[in-house]
Amino acid sequence: MWAGLLDERIADVRQREAEERRGWERRPSPAQWIVQHGIGLGPPMIHTTLGEGAAQCWARVGADRCAPTTREQARAALGENSAEACQICRPDTVLGLLG
Ligand SMILES: [Zn+2]
Repeated sequence: MWAGLLDERIADVRQREAEERRGWERRPSPAQWIVQHGIGLGPPMIHTTLGEGAAQCWARVGADRCAPTTREQARAALGENSAEACQICRPDTVLGLLG
């Protein structure tokens, strides 16, 4: 009997977890463009989750000094050279700013 109750509890928890996961998947997609503010006077760095190297790049919204930005802002900042492009996730390549 106790084991049965426990099974029910576990099933409840699993169900809730599955619902939370579905809710998470329905959320608006996380930012695809990230600006990482520089330390001190250093320029900000632009990251993107769309690049081929994005899986290797640590930058995520919520990570240290990282904030979401838009494709337009990322392109403008990189175009003006007011920000650097991450060499791992290569937002400049994604934006077509190279070659
Ligand atoms: Zn990056």
